[in-house]
Amino acid sequence: MTFAIHGLNVSRGVAIGRAVLVASSRVDVAHYFVQPHEVQPEIDRLLSGRNAVVDEIHRLQESITNMGPKEAPHELGALLDVHLMLLQDDELLSSVKHWITKRLYNAEWALTTQLEVIARQFDEMEDEYLRERKADLEQIVERVLRAMKGTSSPIVVHQQRAARKSQQDLLLDDTVDVPLILIAHDLSPADMLQFKQSVFAGFITDVGGKTSHTAIVARSMDIPAVVGARLASQLVRQDDWVIIDGDAGVVIVDPSSIILAEYGFKQRQRELERGRLQRLLHTPAVTMDGEKVELLANIEMPEDAHIALKAGAVGVGLFRSEFLFMGRQGRLPGEEEQYQAYKRAVEGMQGLPVTIRTVDVGADKPLDESLRDDAHLNPALGLRAIRWSLADPAMFLTQLRAILRAAAHGKVHLLVPMLAHASEIRQTLAHLDHARVMLDNRGVPYGPVKLGAMIEIPAAALSLRLFLKHFDFLSIGTNDLIQYTLAIDRADESVAHLYDPLHPAVLRLVADTIAQGRAQGKDVAVCGEMAGDVSLTRLLLGLGLRSFSMHPAQILAVKQEILRADAAKLAPWAKRVMEAEDPAREMAAN
Ligand code: PEP
Ligand code: MG
Repeated sequence: MTFAIHGLNVSRGVAIGRAVLVASSRVDVAHYFVQPHEVQPEIDRLLSGRNAVVDEIHRLQESITNMGPKEAPHELGALLDVHLMLLQDDELLSSVKHWITKRLYNAEWALTTQLEVIARQFDEMEDEYLRERKADLEQIVERVLRAMKGTSSPIVVHQQRAARKSQQDLLLDDTVDVPLILIAHDLSPADMLQFKQSVFAGFITDVGGKTSHTAIVARSMDIPAVVGARLASQLVRQDDWVIIDGDAGVVIVDPSSIILAEYGFKQRQRELERGRLQRLLHTPAVTMDGEKVELLANIEMPEDAHIALKAGAVGVGLFRSEFLFMGRQGRLPGEEEQYQAYKRAVEGMQGLPVTIRTVDVGADKPLDESLRDDAHLNPALGLRAIRWSLADPAMFLTQLRAILRAAAHGKVHLLVPMLAHASEIRQTLAHLDHARVMLDNRGVPYGPVKLGAMIEIPAAALSLRLFLKHFDFLSIGTNDLIQYTLAIDRADESVAHLYDPLHPAVLRLVADTIAQGRAQGKDVAVCGEMAGDVSLTRLLLGLGLRSFSMHPAQILAVKQEILRADAAKLAPWAKRVMEAEDPAREMAAN
């Protein structure tokens, strides 16, 4: 039966494929594809994990038998029998093998996928005793996963999916070529990064706001995504056909052939539109009245530099360095590793500037899921970004030295997130001096950097004089600026309707920052999601913005808006919008 689930439209486009539910497990599970020739070794790995657990249970059974009849816990013996039976169940094993053979899932992924399928069947059972066997199954799956831990090689394999197959072919196809759509209750930014190089055609999560970091990574991957879809991970079943309408924020489950045909058409239209935009690749971004505009890219990993170049970016306006720090069980990258990564980004940009932001972890970007500290009820207001760096000077100095060293290989701008206090600015500058002295003492070469501050806390936007005195440039982080101005958690879908880039207070802070920066001859960029939103390009131009940093995939669409704009004419209009009681309505009226 066809049904629709509504969420938030965070990444545009249409994706059609089969649902892959990422089961939540207490054991970290890697999800990657194996090569066809790796199928048998993968099955062997699964079998040896299972056999290890079978042996373990046998040993336990033996020790129970050796106990006296009084101390031998009867229930434990019965439980172990059930576990053994489940482990040796041929049907379970052949279903798991099916996921490995047909879909090329790694063994852990195959196992948790099948767990998800069976868990649903258990949930639907009338018999309470049988329903409770679900917990046993979860336990044995977890034991097998633990037994396999350390034997996997989570190298994500790129595969060519059958993007050009007809919908009819796809429906008949049960092979590895079917596009896959990932559905999860939640995905951490680190999970997203792991999936970044994989083959998913789209993402759906139950939770998350429009500028949550999961949404941001989905946009940077340029694939359709819907977040805040509430019960999606419970309503959609493994392998269901789903359509993501990323423009509307809607997920259609089990679509009829008419709906499939309609969305197939939409998909092709979008491809055509993309093709048309490609013609603007080498056109300079200049408004009709001759105002030059800088279009920069936001990246998460050094390897994204080539994507930025291919998209026509004239530099990187935001390299979110924290992605190098995440998902490593708290083991932070050292100076050399960071230096190599920054150098790769700098060299990748072939002489164009790269703005490296110092690490911004905390809030919805924990270093590691297992390290997430739930005791901090309000992480967005806690030890995050520069606060975290200043709290760990050795870590901060390591990063600063690595960035300074990378600056010997090309133009590097160093950007500091979440500053609000004069004391934080002073400490940051002192650490930077100290990092230079350390490199001098070691005789290690390094280069000059332009120093920038992110304006993403209202307090910073209201004390610009301080920032303009100490920094060469400013970059407005509108994602956080909106969050902190309106007291709306950007990751919380339940208040997403109040997250409003067009609130007059937000526009005022953005406009003032641009105006004061320009008045002092300092560059001001916007690197939050507002910069890549084509519906806001004209407004930002009218407010005086001349530097936009966004996901590479957005660059050409924003450029098209710029080429059609007359900046001088937009200025009085933008002022009117900003001063209106309801700016969104004022914009729509003109
Ligand atoms: C922002 O806050 O707008 C920004 C660009 O930084 P991040 O999204 O990484 O917090
Ligand atoms: Mg921010």
